[in-house]
Amino acid sequence: MTNDTAKNIIRMSELYTPTLKEDPADAEIASHRLLMRSGMIRKAASGVYTFLPLGKKVLAKIETIVREEMDGIGAQEVMMPALQPAELWFESGRWDDYGPELMRLEDRHGRGFCLGPTHEELITSLVRNELRSYKDLPLSLYQIQVKFRDEIRPRFGLLRGREFIMKDAYSFHPNQASLQETYNDMSAAYGRMCDRMGLTWRAVEADSGQIGGNTSCEFMALAEAGEAELVYCSCGYAANTEAGEGTAQLEEYQAQKGLEKIATPGIGAISDLAKHLDTPESSTVKAMAGRGTDGVLTVFLVPGSHELNLIKAGRMVDGFELLNDDAIEAAGLSKGSMGPVGLPPNTRLVAEKSLRTIESWVVGANEEGHHYVGAKSDVDFTVDEWADITVVKEGDLCAQCGSILEGARGIEVSQVFQLGDKYSKSMGATFSAEDGSEQHFLMGCYGVGVTRSMAAIVEQYNDDKGIIWPISVAPAHVCVIPLDVEEGEVFSTAQKLAADFAALGFEVALDDRDERAGVKFNDADLIGWPIQVVVGKRGLGEAKVEMKVRKSGEKKDVALDAIADVLRDTL
Ligand code: ATP
Ligand code: MG
Repeated sequence: MTNDTAKNIIRMSELYTPTLKEDPADAEIASHRLLMRSGMIRKAASGVYTFLPLGKKVLAKIETIVREEMDGIGAQEVMMPALQPAELWFESGRWDDYGPELMRLEDRHGRGFCLGPTHEELITSLVRNELRSYKDLPLSLYQIQVKFRDEIRPRFGLLRGREFIMKDAYSFHPNQASLQETYNDMSAAYGRMCDRMGLTWRAVEADSGQIGGNTSCEFMALAEAGEAELVYCSCGYAANTEAGEGTAQLEEYQAQKGLEKIATPGIGAISDLAKHLDTPESSTVKAMAGRGTDGVLTVFLVPGSHELNLIKAGRMVDGFELLNDDAIEAAGLSKGSMGPVGLPPNTRLVAEKSLRTIESWVVGANEEGHHYVGAKSDVDFTVDEWADITVVKEGDLCAQCGSILEGARGIEVSQVFQLGDKYSKSMGATFSAEDGSEQHFLMGCYGVGVTRSMAAIVEQYNDDKGIIWPISVAPAHVCVIPLDVEEGEVFSTAQKLAADFAALGFEVALDDRDERAGVKFNDADLIGWPIQVVVGKRGLGEAKVEMKVRKSGEKKDVALDAIADVLRDTL
């Protein structure tokens, strides 16, 4: 045993890992609770965390996986500043667009800065004067760095922080084929990262949101605690419900002869309307009114069983915002009984395409306490545009194969985007092409939530006793637990085993604390070492130790001289 090997052993007697017996009051989900209780993280402020020694080790493992996968596809690591000059954000237009999530500050001279929530602006400014020739393309750069977002609701520990670690990569291309190739490489690397972290995951079609661009995919760790909802199909189609498309399965309200106005006193909500008519919500139609920047009153019609997708609405009508109650009234509409019949002139009427399958609609009558049944498109009202405008949901039919979509919840651990020329254009980043012309770069960007991944792993790997780290990211592979450190032979054997394991290349912890066995077992389960090797007086009498596999809970006695081999096989 070299001194270096001995130094690498985590000695619990010296380790700063203040474990907690009780769950922290604000911890709603397993990862938050267990990372706190096992002494891996501590809260500094809402959404801002310190990583203690064991947490930092896990983080380093995740970073190594991410780094290896990035290096493996030829991306080069850089480190950009977290502190970014406001001017760059003026150029891209995002100083205004990003909203209150952007952490803004001023230096002593009154010059504006922000703490980077992402780095498109900075990297575009980095390359725009020095990456000049098509011969130097494509180029992929990445960093693993702290990001700041003043989230409206920081919560769930590391899942949604205000300061968190992201790996962000950016690629520059002379043409779409080159961008597509790197995007595919990145996507494949992202899948491998998820696999190596032990995650059960799905890649889903995504909305490209604040970052911009139009082709995007999210990698979702499946977990009930996830804030994202997704749908997926046996044909392979999978999407974030924000972005996905499906065909709503609707039912016809009893065949009507013609338009009939019915009294629906006190009924505003779709659920009440459906109950009143004794019909499923999917046979009713709900209307939502708003205006875009052009000021035109726009009414969106969706099945009563579904929600309007505001992202899609915003894409159809520039700057679309729903009307508030006063504005609804001012527009001559009725909040609880909005519908397509008898709308004010020049209203733009957009209907969910799935509604085409319904002949006779149940709709609001634009008059309080009244609805119509038997309303027919092209007879009683005219739809200006049929479009995909609902939030897709479980039970809808797959837009690609027509099968029924299944639903799940997920944690977005990473996302890849094709940005196109959004930033290179707004920030004037060009290169000279083969034909001598100046062209804007096409760009891709690719983000991994490093700290969020840590939480996602715990969400998938825990039980009522604590964390169950996959070996690839565990703070160490094995913890050697002497039952009684006062017992000379027990302790010396444990020390020797720890040293032997370390010399063999395993990462080892030694619980050399003068604590009761029960305390040590509980902490070992809570911290989640993949393997525990327990050394006790009774076992040693027969030259045996006990090995426990945290994941299965399986315990077995192993001969002292065989334990290293058994450990190797198990790991
Ligand atoms: P979300 O929709 O969850 O707010 P996002 O789509 O805005 O995330 P991106 O801009 O795609 O996030 O950032 C890349 C990755 O950074 C995300 O996939 C996620 O893993 C991580 N991330 C984003 N916001 C946070 C946060 N507040 N706390 C921790 N990780 C985050
Ligand atoms: Mg995202």
